Amino acid sequence: MRSRNLKCIAPLGPEAMGTTESDRPTALVTGANRGLGLETSIQLRAKGFRVVLTSRDEKKGTAAVRGLDPGGGDVLYHPLDITDRASISAVAKDLPALVPRLDLLVNNAGIGSWGADRRASARTIATNYFGSRDVTDALLPFIPNGGRVVMVSSGLGELSTMGRDLRPRFADPSLTRAALDSLVNAYLTALENGDAKSAGWPSAYSVSKVSLNAFTRILSRERSPRGVRVNSVCPGWVRTDMGGLGASRSVEVGARSIVLAATLPGDATGGFYRDGKKIPW
Ligand code: NDP
Repeated sequence: MRSRNLKCIAPLGPEAMGTTESDRPTALVTGANRGLGLETSIQLRAKGFRVVLTSRDEKKGTAAVRGLDPGGGDVLYHPLDITDRASISAVAKDLPALVPRLDLLVNNAGIGSWGADRRASARTIATNYFGSRDVTDALLPFIPNGGRVVMVSSGLGELSTMGRDLRPRFADPSLTRAALDSLVNAYLTALENGDAKSAGWPSAYSVSKVSLNAFTRILSRERSPRGVRVNSVCPGWVRTDMGGLGASRSVEVGARSIVLAATLPGDATGGFYRDGKKIPW
């Protein structure tokens, strides 16, 4: 099934406009069948990107591609469940047949869990932190010098959501991947023991997004010698399935914040942005 959806070449491609497919910037967006991921794909396409739209549900993803790009060519599809190692490996394996390189990776897929349910909390960490990290690591070999990674984080990923003792540990500028993972695992252990709240841990959603922001800083440090820019973004509170009808922003405005972070001028890296402006973490 995968290979059937690999390519959709437009009858009138960018060659007709004096550029070749290989000149065109390419982006891959996770969780792009609906909500902010879909709208981000729409806006990136409007900016001239070829978009690899991915989703964990193939039917929903291919329907989104058909709606977005009925002629084919601008938007390609590949299934991707960011919590499934085999699914991540399949994208990494198939990507060279889809696009010449990846100029931009948007880690958008995410779930929310704000309550005390342990399984839902663990799933939220597995998706928002470990999943986004694993997708990034698998796709980094395709991101050239000067490419970008954008982590869709949240205002609920601000350090201030953490207990006072935990904040400096996440904010440590020399935090390593291993140290970050042990912080996240300490949260999962506290969750199991039922003492997460008393130990200063906020909701699983906040832990996942604080951790994603910490990973952004680690990755930007690792990749800056190659000029790969890695930033986190808050889209604001947005009227999607996750944000709910009462949210203050339209999906267009929220996705615009993501696209601005994905197209920041210069070599800004390791920052946290909303609406194209750096915000404190
Ligand atoms: P939605 O719930 O509308 O969409 C979430 C998307 O993520 C869906 O496409 C969903 O797929 C996908 N997804 C979930 N789990 C996985 C997985 N394991 N693998 C692949 N895809 C997955 O949420 P939003 O569009 O609002 O959220 C997008 C991002 O923005 C999230 O990271 C969220 O945390 C962040 N955000 C949202 C805010 C808001 O107010 N809406 C505020 C701040 C941040 P499926 O359809 O199959 O469920």
